Amino acid sequence: MVHPLVSFDLSPEWAKAVHIENLQALEEVYRDLDCDIADWQRTSDLACPTGCGHCCTRFTPDITAVEAEYLAVFLLQHYPEKTDKFDGLEGSSSKLSSEECPLFDPDSAFHCSVYAARPLVCRLFAFSGFRDKSGHRRFAPCRQMPVSDEYSALQKQFPSSGSREIAPDDSITFPLLGVFGSRVEAADFEPSAERELLPSAVLRAVSRIRLKRQLASGQELSGSDTSIPETPVDGGFSGRDTA
Ligand code: SF4
Repeated sequence: MVHPLVSFDLSPEWAKAVHIENLQALEEVYRDLDCDIADWQRTSDLACPTGCGHCCTRFTPDITAVEAEYLAVFLLQHYPEKTDKFDGLEGSSSKLSSEECPLFDPDSAFHCSVYAARPLVCRLFAFSGFRDKSGHRRFAPCRQMPVSDEYSALQKQFPSSGSREIAPDDSITFPLLGVFGSRVEAADFEPSAERELLPSAVLRAVSRIRLKRQLASGQELSGSDTSIPETPVDGGFSGRDTA
């Protein structure tokens, strides 16, 4: 099942504060990925156990600047009260690099309080494969995931070195981490910047958008509000262990 993506207010006031073309390009990547995952779920009949949420515990995603802006716009337009959580992280390096994602909410649908706007690595987890050094595509389901009859048949047809892994021919398709990672990078408005942990990336994006909206509306700024936060060049793409 493909869940709907988010709707944004793209009025002129917001257009001055965000990178609309980049946000739209990112949304297209998310939409294509969600469709490919839905196709793969139909083929493999793999599904997360009901109420699992295991992949969000003790995990904080690395995200790109455009993914941070997408999340920040989603929060500011749909759940402004949730930005308080990020404001509370400011100045605390331990909280900004915490192992628990600040958007994890065990009481919300799929345990993610921003499920429709969640970043790439969260979408890819459990339903994406990769190319090995020889260029062969490989896939292994998450350890928490029960193996379906359809997937067992694929294991017999396309055996691989890993106990839960398959190495299929071109008749079987599933999303590849590298392909979608490159597409998200291509959608970025800071293409040379590296990925950053979600808490600090979203905090900076929220601050930057608020400041730009203030500037656009001609509101007076206090002395500490006058610099637009930049993205540091540091870090790297982080996927999760699915073997
Ligand atoms: S953004 Fe959502 S899906 Fe991703 S780690 Fe945080 S809570 Fe989990």
